[in-house]
Amino acid sequence: MLVAKNEQGRSVHLLEQQAVDGQAFFCPGCGGPVRLRKGEVMRPHFAHISLKNCHYFSENESEQHLQLKTSLYQWALQDSQAELEKRLPEIEQIADVFINDKLVLEIQCSSLPIRRLQERTYSYQQAGYRVVWLLGKDLWLKKRLTNLQRQFLYFSHRLGFFLWELDREREKIRLRYLIHEDLHGQVQCLTQEFPLGVGNLLTILRFPYQGKKVAVLKGRLDRQIREYLARQLYHQSPKWMGIQAQLYQEGGNLLTQTLDDFYPQIRLPESTIGFAQIEQDLSAYYAHFWEYYQQLDCKTEQYLYSPAFYQIKSRKKLGQ
Ligand SMILES: [Zn+2]
Repeated sequence: MLVAKNEQGRSVHLLEQQAVDGQAFFCPGCGGPVRLRKGEVMRPHFAHISLKNCHYFSENESEQHLQLKTSLYQWALQDSQAELEKRLPEIEQIADVFINDKLVLEIQCSSLPIRRLQERTYSYQQAGYRVVWLLGKDLWLKKRLTNLQRQFLYFSHRLGFFLWELDREREKIRLRYLIHEDLHGQVQCLTQEFPLGVGNLLTILRFPYQGKKVAVLKGRLDRQIREYLARQLYHQSPKWMGIQAQLYQEGGNLLTQTLDDFYPQIRLPESTIGFAQIEQDLSAYYAHFWEYYQQLDCKTEQYLYSPAFYQIKSRKKLGQ
């Protein structure tokens, strides 16, 4: 926490003024006592003495979180009206950085319960704010999409499923886009980085929604996918056992399918509980995606495109 109240009820903003030791400070959210901390590693900040009764902060923040919050706030201030740790009492939340009275930036550096993320996102959306979650190191996209990461996915017609990462050490904001999953459950996507603090922050955050150029990703197909699936069934992988059971009911069998039957190997992310950050209905996108790959003759390679591409292809087909 970088902003607290003093005994007189005034805000003490650590990026703008020095806090005096020996004073009492309070959380702007819950009103509970907080302590001024000045350490060797951590920049000066406030921390709850006890978090037990605070609805606004679920944990005391790491140095990574404090530094990223500071960088984004100072960056936003260059071109916009920005507030640090803005208290939004109507929804009982404190936004890390609040821009132009409508955009909320939330820096998430550690895991949190999916339910909590859904609730926080939903209450921002209901109150008419747009929220952009930016992920710290522990939550970066690695080989597989975790269930929590699925809830940080955004969508645009130009870049498909995407999410934002913050890299404090290399001072980058990183966009991962055209996020897909292959049959191994591994992520295939594209990446673009922007240096932190350079250019207009809002322009960068709007990047996924701007422009018309179709993005393309050359997928990596596994020619030995059938051997892989045989091993998965041998080891009784719950996912593939379930698919096999379903195929049996339809009179099929995973192990007798041809390589082409597994096409397209690279597919769109799915989530049985939906995607917290995505309000649009994506069913047409999924349908156009499947339709496009089903009708391709050449199934030895797979290119992935912006969602707009599949939509245009589908329309052209209907027009014929
Ligand atoms: Zn509090």
